[in-house]
Amino acid sequence: MIQEEIKEIKAQLPARVRLVAVSKYQPVEAVQEAYDGGQRLFGENIAQEMRMKHEVLPQDIQWHFIGHLQTNKVKYVAPYAALIQSVDSLKLLEEINKCAAKHNRVVNCLLQIHIASEEEKFGFSFDECRELLKEGSWKTLDNVHISGLMGIATNTEDVEQVKREFKGLHGFFEEVKRQWFAGDDAFCELSMGMSADYPLAIEEGCTLIRVGSKIFGKRKTKQ
Ligand SMILES: *Cc1c(COP(=O)(O)O)cnc(C)c1O
Repeated sequence: MIQEEIKEIKAQLPARVRLVAVSKYQPVEAVQEAYDGGQRLFGENIAQEMRMKHEVLPQDIQWHFIGHLQTNKVKYVAPYAALIQSVDSLKLLEEINKCAAKHNRVVNCLLQIHIASEEEKFGFSFDECRELLKEGSWKTLDNVHISGLMGIATNTEDVEQVKREFKGLHGFFEEVKRQWFAGDDAFCELSMGMSADYPLAIEEGCTLIRVGSKIFGKRKTKQ
């Protein structure tokens, strides 16, 4: 089941798009099954859970953190994460930088942008993100690298709205790239699209999709 789903999704992906299998709340055995089918990229949204899985599962797994990260939990993630997709404050970026320096690494990060109409979702507004970039202190953080942007669309049946939100984020990605990362080929990731809307995200130019329930089945919590 898990391996077939992954195969089916991957068959639909253009070369520029990578699949992050979102294994949050799923048992280690389910991750192992996906791994045995060739999947190497996994996403988690609870820091301690990701650390536990990192410790017990094969070391060539690339772990992406995709949830709201509190600064006091950075230490569970920054020593090994391949990408932290959900940076939503300068304070968090600074904390990741500090922890990454301790471990002699440069941690790739995405800035999370709030594109949904729901209030409760995290992330910068376009203007807050522009402010952060303009303020400039991120340039002094040598142990983090901003690799792109991430967004979560509104949970709605309204396809046109979701498309609009993805299109808006892609446009903003191009603006940020042009203005701040023009010479940086490693600013290249646009993470958008989940089980319900990843085909739209692909149409709108994403490079990473984050798919959980379509691969692993329903989770046992509402998240
Ligand atoms: C849970 C989660 C996903 C995956 O959601 P599904 O609907 O199960 O595919 C993707 N992105 C983020 C940020 C998530 O928290």
